[in-house]
Amino acid sequence: VCDQMTEPDGKSLVERNVVRVVTPGTYVPQDAEGDGRLAAVMAAGDSVALAFLTSGTGRLEAGTFPPGEAASLLASFAPGEVLAARGREDAASALCPVPPRVVVPLDRGEFSVSYGAGWLCKRWGIATLRAMGLEDADPAACAAAAALRYIEETQFGQAGHVTEILPMRPEGMLILDSSTQANLELLDPAGPSLYSTLNRCRTPMGRRLLREWITHPSKDPEIIAFRQDCIEALLKSSGLRKKLKEVLPKCGDMERALSRLAMRTGNPKDLGVVRDTLSAMPELTEAMSGPDSGPLSAVFRCVPDLFELRELLAASLADDLPRSMASGGVIRAGYDSALDDFRDAIAGAEENLKAFEASERERTGIKVRVGINRVFGYYIEVGKAYADKVPEDYVRRQTVAGGERFVNERLSDIESRVFRAEHDIGAREGELYREVLASAMGRIAHCQAAGNAIAVADVLASLAEVARDNSYVRPAMEDSRIFSVRGARHPVIEKAQTGSPFTPNDITLDPDNANIGCIAVITGPNMAGKSTYLRTAALVALMAHIGSYVPAEEARIGIIDRIFTRIGARDELAQGRSTFMVEMVETADILRHVTSRSLVILDEIGRGTSTYDGMSIAWAVLEFLDLHVEGRTKALFATHYHELTDLSLPQVVNLSMAVEESSEGIRFLHKVVHGPADRSYGVEVARLAGVPNIVVRRSQEILDELERGAVESDRNFGAMSKKYVQKEIFFDVEREGVIEELSLCDPDRMTPMEALDMVFRLRGKSRRILGLK
Ligand code: ADP
Ligand code: MG
Repeated sequence: VCDQMTEPDGKSLVERNVVRVVTPGTYVPQDAEGDGRLAAVMAAGDSVALAFLTSGTGRLEAGTFPPGEAASLLASFAPGEVLAARGREDAASALCPVPPRVVVPLDRGEFSVSYGAGWLCKRWGIATLRAMGLEDADPAACAAAAALRYIEETQFGQAGHVTEILPMRPEGMLILDSSTQANLELLDPAGPSLYSTLNRCRTPMGRRLLREWITHPSKDPEIIAFRQDCIEALLKSSGLRKKLKEVLPKCGDMERALSRLAMRTGNPKDLGVVRDTLSAMPELTEAMSGPDSGPLSAVFRCVPDLFELRELLAASLADDLPRSMASGGVIRAGYDSALDDFRDAIAGAEENLKAFEASERERTGIKVRVGINRVFGYYIEVGKAYADKVPEDYVRRQTVAGGERFVNERLSDIESRVFRAEHDIGAREGELYREVLASAMGRIAHCQAAGNAIAVADVLASLAEVARDNSYVRPAMEDSRIFSVRGARHPVIEKAQTGSPFTPNDITLDPDNANIGCIAVITGPNMAGKSTYLRTAALVALMAHIGSYVPAEEARIGIIDRIFTRIGARDELAQGRSTFMVEMVETADILRHVTSRSLVILDEIGRGTSTYDGMSIAWAVLEFLDLHVEGRTKALFATHYHELTDLSLPQVVNLSMAVEESSEGIRFLHKVVHGPADRSYGVEVARLAGVPNIVVRRSQEILDELERGAVESDRNFGAMSKKYVQKEIFFDVEREGVIEELSLCDPDRMTPMEALDMVFRLRGKSRRILGLK
């Protein structure tokens, strides 16, 4: 962005400068979504140092992680731009599951450890970073310094809203790797997602925080319990809910406004957002400290009182604020007497002009008109008819269609007084605005704390509302490893499905109780609800760790450290990986990282390759989970390989999806029952899906042969296929095609031409079937 640095005076060249650089990782738009997410990625031995800077909120986080974890963190942060050492751009970009739009190479010197920490200490005027929980030689501090320096460089100024580094602590978070985040459709902007289901937030800050909670569920029982307690208090008090519903919408995106102001891309409107949001604070604080607020009062207790700033903003700023200082009208009348005087002077000048016009008409006897023109300033216009009556003291300035325009000494005098007053108003408003802005910037950290409290209140209120409307329950979180949910529902599908009600199911896994088992193998036909059951388990677990209530009748959940999922067939052709390759990469990752506190969801692994390969892999994976995970793990394993239900493995229980058979075919009950499925109903599903009858009949025949054991080897396959004349099938398909076309046509609506056309076409087909030329 290039700006004029001096006012044009019509004589000298105007100075112009680049004032900031707009980049995808730093840009914070005023109205649109997006808060400028920048990541710095730096190799640190075998690990990766990361820094995440959100320009829109001023949040700077840093930490050092093994590459897999770094990739998960990058996935949930989703940076728009990544900084990496020159020559290592590809490695950095490969870590990001969603490739960032821009990878910016930095010279390696900028990533030197000693330089980074020193620069940050100087920048913040502190002696050591230890107070922020980082060692000075920590490579993460260096990545943080690189990120902060980059925004200061691109914004050509100080990033005053970034006041500290928050160490990223994945040990406090339930980790969701990147494929799990995608598989579970947590934020999916294209369709219904967990976010869209849980979001009833009333402020942009709340919506941002809810997304953050969803992608970073907590593993800390205290944090979870606190959030649950707050939701419980909200559910108990309709008054409190109503109050929040009323007050929250008055809050704007104060975090973002502060950031824009700190980066000097803000304008008076942004300061207005700060004012409006702060002015809602007393009402919020009061509501949240009433008798029914319970634990919620803690949310606002640590927010400093911003009384003075709030009063200052309310007294100084006009109601409707412009987007630019240049248009004026920023400072409220009555706030500053000097400014009021200048404004009066302008108003007075207008009176003066009226009086001047009247007196000139009288003096000259001409019907003169006083006006203003942007180039020439004030003028006296005299119509053509009076051209010979123009008095001596008029100086001609301009000729227009209707006559001529003049000035005289008195008019110039009035004019210069108006211009001076306008100039004075602009200068004074600028001065006052900068003062008010400086006061706000001086309290920026406190304002950010207030913004954060509002966001927390907003998200909790949203979770409470969703819990109430959808009859969620509070899960009992335990130190054990149990996962026991009665009547679990898929939170997103139960909302999306309008026709039939969602069938709740129980999910029980316990590595510490051999009677229950901790690995469930789920079989059943396609479309019976296996995948939905698996996702339900994952989502209930995830919601519980957010601190939310869950869609179930009752839930007991031991704290989980990671949720792993391998779901569905998904090609990543853009990244040059086939379905099967993706499947195996994800499976490998799971097997390497699974712990005794994890929840593993495996949906039909091995589907992407040939039957025997696929089954062998699924089999081995199941065995591994059962026998080789130290301390045993919890897993749900959906498979279409029936053979796997016969393995006798100690922890494994067989479940299946109930199916109702009748003369008309089969019906899915979506109910999970104990025991393996007796058969797969593939042929029935094909029929339901509308596969032509002839193919359904033929597949039933082949299936019967296979089940009779007539086929055991590849040779027998060949023999069997010869027993049937393959051509016959296609013969029949064509024959049915003719009949179908005839039965579907509507002679009443056909033109003679179309009918004739059809007769020719059907005759051609029939002759081919009969083998005629
Ligand atoms: P599978 O994985 O066994 O092929 P899905 O889980 O994909 O089956 O489920 C197929 C469809 O059945 C889903 O899209 C959903 O509409 C419906 N469904 C699944 N589970 C339930 C349930 N518990 N209650 C109601 N409908 C369900
Ligand atoms: Mg499925």
